[in-house]
Amino acid sequence: MNSDLAIARAATLQPIQVIADKLGIPASAVEPYGRTKAKIGLDFIASLEDRPDAPLVLVTGINPTPAGEGKTTTTVGLGDALNRIGRRAAICLREPSLGPSFGMKGGAAGGGHAQVVPMDQINLHFTGDFHAITAANNLLAAMVDNSIYWGNPLDIDERRISWRRCMDMNDRALRSIVASLGGVANGFPREDGFDITVASEVMAVFCLSRNLHDLEARLGRMVVAQTRDGANVTAADLKADGAMAVLLKDAIAPNLVQTLEGSPALVHGGPFANIAHGCNSVMATRLGLKLADVVVTEAGFGADLGGEKFLDIKCRSAGLKPSCAVVVATVRALKMHGGVERHQLGAENVEAVRHGVANLQRHVENLQKFGLPVVVAVNHFTSDTAAEFAAIRDAMAALGTEAISCTHWAHGGAGAEDLAHAVVRRIEAGTAAYKPIYPLDMTLADKIRAIAREIYRAYDIALPDAVAAKLESFEAAGFGEVPVCIAKTQYSFTADPTIMGAPVGHVLPVREVRLSAGAGFVVAICGDIMTMPGLPRVPAAESICLREDGAIEGLF
Ligand code: ADP
Ligand code: MG
Repeated sequence: MNSDLAIARAATLQPIQVIADKLGIPASAVEPYGRTKAKIGLDFIASLEDRPDAPLVLVTGINPTPAGEGKTTTTVGLGDALNRIGRRAAICLREPSLGPSFGMKGGAAGGGHAQVVPMDQINLHFTGDFHAITAANNLLAAMVDNSIYWGNPLDIDERRISWRRCMDMNDRALRSIVASLGGVANGFPREDGFDITVASEVMAVFCLSRNLHDLEARLGRMVVAQTRDGANVTAADLKADGAMAVLLKDAIAPNLVQTLEGSPALVHGGPFANIAHGCNSVMATRLGLKLADVVVTEAGFGADLGGEKFLDIKCRSAGLKPSCAVVVATVRALKMHGGVERHQLGAENVEAVRHGVANLQRHVENLQKFGLPVVVAVNHFTSDTAAEFAAIRDAMAALGTEAISCTHWAHGGAGAEDLAHAVVRRIEAGTAAYKPIYPLDMTLADKIRAIAREIYRAYDIALPDAVAAKLESFEAAGFGEVPVCIAKTQYSFTADPTIMGAPVGHVLPVREVRLSAGAGFVVAICGDIMTMPGLPRVPAAESICLREDGAIEGLF
């Protein structure tokens, strides 16, 4: 089969107004960015406030493996399939970050015959949202150092500046830097560092805001440093919130694009799911819920990470009540969870699937704890055998969960119609009773512990005294009632990426905690995870180039 890029390039796209018409968005609310992308006007969005919400379907997955799972591909395939069976579906996805596109993972617009297009533009600069977020973040960083330079009227303690600069690129050289070198005119030298844009608090604020005013208020609440007396200094104290909101005012409008089959897709905001909260913007999801009959959305990485944060952070903060969860698994990935090496995935191995299915089982049970009915989508690869699929189906039947084989990657929406019917049955049964996994009135440490125990099945958390003291200081400053955003490897239920399957009895090491007062959560960094990734030995960038005719080669 052709590459994702070749399939996307061969597609004939419809003018974006044709797609907008499918959701009843009038031309006056469609602000085209070229012919096939548009932003949807904020006034129109505000006018929909009183409409009821459509059912919301979460697509999540098992712990990812290098064998690939295809959550985005399945989200798109399911959306197309729902439209094919007569349900007006909208798809809500995150915008891809440039880091993985040039690194190891490749693009994030789906794959095969289940993609959002224009694939190359969505994966590269798209409508410029991430550039705007980067600029807003770095304006604030510049204003912090500038305030210190001009006499430090806020009495900022230069040793206690928590605000970091950001860039949407994998660049380990910028993780820890010394800023302001070079003499008196350049300010006061201090340790600083960069995070990738998709891990920044501005990205989280952008994605959790309900409207422009909420965005500005949240930006103002962001804590950037402390004074010598230990008081928090915020973006509002620096009078940076207004200018930051100005930089973001166009970006905050959701982006509309289409799938290869012409289904509407809102692609907006894009925090990573390992080091951030992992879901597209609340603005886009709520817009979809007002306009469509059903909304399908993806949370990044496994159900333990993106899924948990979607349910405990995003849904709680935005008042969303999902109706159903789809867990994406593949025979190949479950074989890897069952101990098979990557180069041996081609051979049938039912025993390994039976073993590895424990990982899937646990994710399904976890989602049931959130009160959601679950459907398992087995994303079919050509090497899969019937006996291997049957092993998954039987294990799921024991949990009262349907496992459905899907071929949308090869066949588009037609290959996911069985999945679409199963999801509709779950929605119409009306059994969902969504509830978060922990209440907000626990201590912050207990919330981390609750996730570790309930979701990761850890024995306990390891909290160094300094980290525990920091959590207590957040509580003392009035931030005890927020949810926690775990930053952890996506590959394992533990903080060790090499431990696959369904481990029990481990201890979750909490290395560092950061307050995101604007986003409204506390980030708990567990294990060795980095908020600025690096490029692999052979980055994808080495294979990306322009053809003679100006088309892009090598994006995947
Ligand atoms: P995720 O969202 O889980 O990270 P994606 O949906 O982005 O995964 O898919 C990752 C890659 O795997 C894409 O390049 C896609 O084309 C490929 N892929 C997905 N499903 C299949 C499949 N059934 N067969 C072959 N390749 C697939
Ligand atoms: Mg994805």
